[in-house]
Amino acid sequence: MIVGVLVQLSNQSVDKIFDYQVPLDLQSKIKLGIRVQVPFGKQTLEGFVLEIKKNTAHKEELKQVQSIIDEEQVLNTELLELGKWLQEQTMSTLINCYQVMLPKALKAKIGTTISKKMDVDLTLNISSEDVANGKWNSSQQRVLEQFQSSAKVKKQDLLKISSSSTKWLLEKGILKEEQTEHYRYHHEFLEKEQYPLTEEQQQVVNQVLAKKNESATFLLFGVTGSGKTECYMELIENAMKEGKSSIVLVPEISLTPQMVERFESRFKNNVAVLHSRLSDGEKYDEWRKIARGEVKIVIGARSAIFAPLTNIGMIIIDEEHSSTYKQENEPKYNAIDVAKQRSITHHCPVVLGSATPTLESFARAQKGRYQLLQLPHRVNQKPLPKVTIVDMSAEIRKGHALFSRTLQEKIQDRLDKGEQIMLLLNRRGYASFVTCQNCGHVEKCPNCDITLTYHKSSNTMRCHYCGYGTKKITKCPKCGEEAIQELGNGTEKVEEELQKHFPNSRILRMDFDTTSRKGSHEKMIRSFENHEYDILLGTQMIAKGLDFANVTLVGVINADTSLNIPDFRSSEMTFQLLNQVSGRSGRKEKEGEVIIQTFNQDHYAIHYAKQHDYLGFYHQEMKIRKELKYPPFYYLTYVKICGKDYETCKETATKVGSYLKSQLQNSIVLGPSVCSVFRVNNVYRFGIIIKYKQEPALYPVLSKLKAHYQSRRDLYVDIDFNPNHI
Ligand code: ADP
Ligand code: ZN
Repeated sequence: MIVGVLVQLSNQSVDKIFDYQVPLDLQSKIKLGIRVQVPFGKQTLEGFVLEIKKNTAHKEELKQVQSIIDEEQVLNTELLELGKWLQEQTMSTLINCYQVMLPKALKAKIGTTISKKMDVDLTLNISSEDVANGKWNSSQQRVLEQFQSSAKVKKQDLLKISSSSTKWLLEKGILKEEQTEHYRYHHEFLEKEQYPLTEEQQQVVNQVLAKKNESATFLLFGVTGSGKTECYMELIENAMKEGKSSIVLVPEISLTPQMVERFESRFKNNVAVLHSRLSDGEKYDEWRKIARGEVKIVIGARSAIFAPLTNIGMIIIDEEHSSTYKQENEPKYNAIDVAKQRSITHHCPVVLGSATPTLESFARAQKGRYQLLQLPHRVNQKPLPKVTIVDMSAEIRKGHALFSRTLQEKIQDRLDKGEQIMLLLNRRGYASFVTCQNCGHVEKCPNCDITLTYHKSSNTMRCHYCGYGTKKITKCPKCGEEAIQELGNGTEKVEEELQKHFPNSRILRMDFDTTSRKGSHEKMIRSFENHEYDILLGTQMIAKGLDFANVTLVGVINADTSLNIPDFRSSEMTFQLLNQVSGRSGRKEKEGEVIIQTFNQDHYAIHYAKQHDYLGFYHQEMKIRKELKYPPFYYLTYVKICGKDYETCKETATKVGSYLKSQLQNSIVLGPSVCSVFRVNNVYRFGIIIKYKQEPALYPVLSKLKAHYQSRRDLYVDIDFNPNHI
């Protein structure tokens, strides 16, 4: 027997299937999609079995499979196919495409084993009569007594009673060991009230159910607080009644305990959870539960779209506009595309939900490629919160750089009433940096073309691109003066200022730094929910999904920073962010209010966010996109040439640019130009933009390009189809 094995090396040039002989004693255990260990050059590697052949020509020369790792398929038939499709879509290596589908414990990678956690129980191996008639010493007696009330007792508990007697009884065969697997992730089932759907919600559900056995894509366009999540749950319940499973994708950061609780309280132990804050062991356990068919619902972040469910009846993607559904590393896949592909296989609907759909999605809905569903009202019948725009240029002249007088008054008012406040610091592309007051020198990362960010709590300066960190300097390395100062407003600084203004308020800061410890994110959300804090101050991570009844004021400290990023999506991202964060206010009984501080009060993204006018924004932004030939009018592909040597990199980029211009007759090819952060980790990057409506030559030309450079060690061609950023 011969098997074709795809080994773990992610190198383009070894990304092919190699044949191995299977020794006789292993042949009965071989299955497609399991992992094996094989010799490869001088090393031993892991790989996936992708082919099983009875015979091939040159048997003798083939090396032998060393061992088999899995009893059951790690990649089932559907995933094996999906991986090939993914490779075609992303032009990544096939091995990368398979690895990305699996939790760490199941990736093909030598030296990473994660064990199963076992519960060890003991049972009696003799009859209770024999126990009664036997002669036992007192401690043996005490151990045996434990079996009067239950047939199974935890070994640990018995060892505590008497470890020597327990061991003796085991040795003599009087007790018997029984191991069962113990899933590490702890699911909690709270009782939550379940409301009947409103008329609007029921209509949405009915429209989806009308096509429940078709691979149709729906866009559920519903304002914040309109009850989209309730609709999702109803659809899932329906699938479950028919014995079918469901996937729910949520952006990483909104996969909060609040969200999970809602699903678990309704569907109990039918739910598995997958997100990056789980430990590798927990992920492994959740994954196996899914593979074994023990759960019918998977709720997770991006990669949960690969959950090994069979018989899928419903795929939900909440906050479909979220950029996190696109993976930034290889394979650069978009979970929404994968969802559509799986929906074709399973003949099931995909529901994309958002209060601010991407322009691409909404345009598709307008064209009828997606079926549009709408929830234009909040469930609580309250209007959307009133939004006030504050012109910060006027405020700053009066000496209020951080908090306008309006915002201060409103905060005080809520504090007095015992209501809660959320403050968003829009920090994207902007952070506190370290500069010399004397010569203007700015400290940059030695590896990257980016300024270092000052972190007060650790008194360090860090690079947010490569992770470089160093102690904060006081003396300027350029002019030698002791004139180093930190500028800009990071969350730490704002927290400090806020505390000065409202000394008696309890402030909770939530950002990348304060949530890095496992479980801290969950804990913070719970404690804010329990009103242990008055003000929640945070970055983008507080904008999504949270549902606090007592929050009646949302303040955006600086709406502008995301407007200023040089990216064609910057207006869209700003509008989405303002809309999402506004949606956190006044979600239940109490009415909410929003204050947006900005230096660009006339910008249309801010204007339409104030009006909660998605359609107004959509039409205006569509005009601009059309004029500038951007999505959704044109598709984009971004080709990056990366290399350690500046000159080689630049020359190659120029060559590649002309090649693409000559080959892609139906496209607009722009560049090369230096990328917006043009050096990262000592690698230079040049970008070429390809815009097209239809370009039959795109895939063949790009794969030729990739193949041409695949053996180069000093250069790398990176291809990103439909990129988030350029
Ligand atoms: P969205 O996902 O659109 O932001 P949610 O599903 O979170 O909205 O609903 C907002 C709030 O309204 C939640 O607290 C939810 O429990 C409540 N809710 C949703 N549907 C109903 C309903 N039919 N009746 C009463 N309350 C509801
Ligand atoms: Zn760096």
